[in-house]
Amino acid sequence: MKYNFNAGPSILPREVIEGTAKACLEFEGTGLSLMEISHRAKYFQPVLDEAEALIRELAGVPEGYAVLFLAGGASTEFHRVAHNFFCKKAAYLNTGVWAKKAMKEAQWFGETVEVASSAEANYTYIPKDYVIPTDADYFHITTNNTIYGTEILKDIDSPVPLIADMSSDIFSRPLDVSKYACIYGGAQKNLSMAGVTFVIVKEDLLGRTGREIPTMMDFRTHIKGGSMFNTPPVVPIYSMLLNLRWIKAQGGLKAMDERAQRRADIVYGEIDRNKLFHGTTAVEDRSRMNICFVMNEEYKDLEEEFFKFATERGMVGIKGHRSVGGFRASCYNAQPIEGAEALVSCMQDFEKLK
Ligand SMILES: *Cc1c(COP(=O)(O)O)cnc(C)c1O
Repeated sequence: MKYNFNAGPSILPREVIEGTAKACLEFEGTGLSLMEISHRAKYFQPVLDEAEALIRELAGVPEGYAVLFLAGGASTEFHRVAHNFFCKKAAYLNTGVWAKKAMKEAQWFGETVEVASSAEANYTYIPKDYVIPTDADYFHITTNNTIYGTEILKDIDSPVPLIADMSSDIFSRPLDVSKYACIYGGAQKNLSMAGVTFVIVKEDLLGRTGREIPTMMDFRTHIKGGSMFNTPPVVPIYSMLLNLRWIKAQGGLKAMDERAQRRADIVYGEIDRNKLFHGTTAVEDRSRMNICFVMNEEYKDLEEEFFKFATERGMVGIKGHRSVGGFRASCYNAQPIEGAEALVSCMQDFEKLK
């Protein structure tokens, strides 16, 4: 038995993997593989339509927002959001590597303001007492910091349009979409395999920069083209559809929220109890998606041994990011409660040996 704690690409429900594999062999009785049908064929439009409808339903997306399926990953959206929203000045919250990369891509257009940063503490907390400049075109946040294991656990208020990279915690809790001008992310952590990017964007905020926007960088191109201006990533979108159906069948975002909380309580509970380990982030900002922990100072030299012990017991992908060290157990939507429990018994059994 393997438990997949990889940070991304990451765990998917077994039935999503099997359903995608089946469609790659033969897509819904067509005699053709999902990989070889035309995206314009009558077969694929229903896939796109249902995936969009499920995103709207699950997240309660209000009228006036477009839902897009694009390619290029969150890294392309760093630049695309600036193309579409930057006029004179943009504000960013610096909560780590991804937030900094997003900010860098806005600097092509002019002044960016770093509203607050937790860089001095290696991003182990989410800055809180900051003031968002009211003359900024938008305020950009990274809701979950995949590398460090911190998370903005509530939808925040912003006096200017709020843009969020939700790559690594999308659909892990109910959302108030109306608080955001744009939500985007790579799907490969909580929603699908790698290759598709989701974007939810408020349409009446587009077209205000006064600049020409290159065709592929303009959200309006993709809205007009129904996410088919160019060939969409057909297989990852199908896989996302199956996963959205799975999320709905589990009870939607409320159920994802409860599962996330249960997993987090189980694993953080053990980190706090076990004499060998401690958590690396501020308790109130602990991510439910990426649970980071290290060995206590006096046991530091046991790190490799624990890693080997856990790997032999079927834990996959628990090495921490090189900039943090230690361990990172990623618990995305598809992670079963048993995954969290298996990791905890592993930590307990290792402690008994010491
Ligand atoms: C993984 C990740 C990214 C990068 O996504 P790509 O799709 O690889 O470009 C960006 N932001 C966050 C928060 C991530 O976790």
